Amino acid sequence: MRHRVTLIPGDGIGPEVAEAARTVVDATGVVVEWDVQTAGADALAREGTPLPDRVLGSVRRSRTALKGPITTPVGSGFRSVNVALRQELDLFAAVRPARSYPGLPTRHPGVDLVTIRENTEDLYRGIEFERGAPDTDRLRAALLNLAGYRIPDDAGVTVKPISITGTRRVVRYALEYAQRNGRRTVTVGHKANIMKFSDGVFLATALEVAKEYPEVDVREMQVDELAMWLSWEPETLDVLLLPNLYGDIISDLSAGLVGGLGVAPGANLGWEYAVFEPVHGSAPDIAGRGAANPLAMILSAAMMLRHLSERAAAGRVDAAVERVLAAGSPRTPDLGGSAGTMEVAEAIAALVA
Ligand code: NAD
Repeated sequence: MRHRVTLIPGDGIGPEVAEAARTVVDATGVVVEWDVQTAGADALAREGTPLPDRVLGSVRRSRTALKGPITTPVGSGFRSVNVALRQELDLFAAVRPARSYPGLPTRHPGVDLVTIRENTEDLYRGIEFERGAPDTDRLRAALLNLAGYRIPDDAGVTVKPISITGTRRVVRYALEYAQRNGRRTVTVGHKANIMKFSDGVFLATALEVAKEYPEVDVREMQVDELAMWLSWEPETLDVLLLPNLYGDIISDLSAGLVGGLGVAPGANLGWEYAVFEPVHGSAPDIAGRGAANPLAMILSAAMMLRHLSERAAAGRVDAAVERVLAAGSPRTPDLGGSAGTMEVAEAIAALVA
């Protein structure tokens, strides 16, 4: 079967790891018609926006995208392309697995975690009031009136909405993911004792929906305690379900437990569309040198193949990554080796055919 996939190479190391992942996918024999779409800095320079409509149009047609990281332009007035894509396509669940690999020494062997992060609400929604702006003054006046709290004149404000509707769908996704993948425990991270009306909604909704899935053991934990357990005994944790901001932080922490951002894949999923991308950013500090670790992007591509029902090919890619890591080389510098991005990709491609 032929699959149409939008490929967004991205910025910084994005094009390098995108080329690596494309080489591996093509080597599996799965026929993918890649619709390559530029977004980010190049699109901003040429088209005046980092996320032109043609990119969204392509993802809407393909329904599936593989995306490299995109730099968030600082001070250009544009919001993060990554956040905008998730919101425009209503990609409400981010799935970020983190597992230990034999041959990749880390502090904790035996880690096998999946963070499922709500992807559209919370402090990431982008409801921002800039310090000193007229709207911020109006908000300050309203809050003084409504809550009796005087926001300092020199404060900026970010609003944290969390809804039952927004939470329910990601909870269902997480519990069904657990069932489908033979995972027993889902730990809901929150700070509902302090943020009663935002995290409180997340927690109450999760516990309510959990009643419909009695075979999954749903636990709750304050996110600070969760951070402690992750650094202490991460192998005791299984699926983590988190609101947007905590999910962002905890999934990077989880990546650090198993070898770093270079081996942390991810998926952003909604009812209609799916965008697969590594957890890492555009790594401007190493861009253009051919030294970026392509494994996170290759593992994201494996998740994409599974989503496209190409399970056998996905399994071959995962197994090839394991074999290359177990062999100890080739490895990129972040994992202690000296190989280049494409050398690693070609070693994996040779094993997946
Ligand atoms: P980053 O993930 O780009 O880099 C953090 C560190 O990890 C750097 O030292 C980098 O060299 C290293 N690193 C990351 N990926 C690597 C890889 N594949 N191989 C080897 N080393 C790797 O995070 P940052 O520096 O905070 O962000 C840079 C830019 O990326 C920012 O503009 C940020 O907004 C953007 N970003 C984009 C996404 C995305 O597109 N989804 C995600 C995170 C950050």
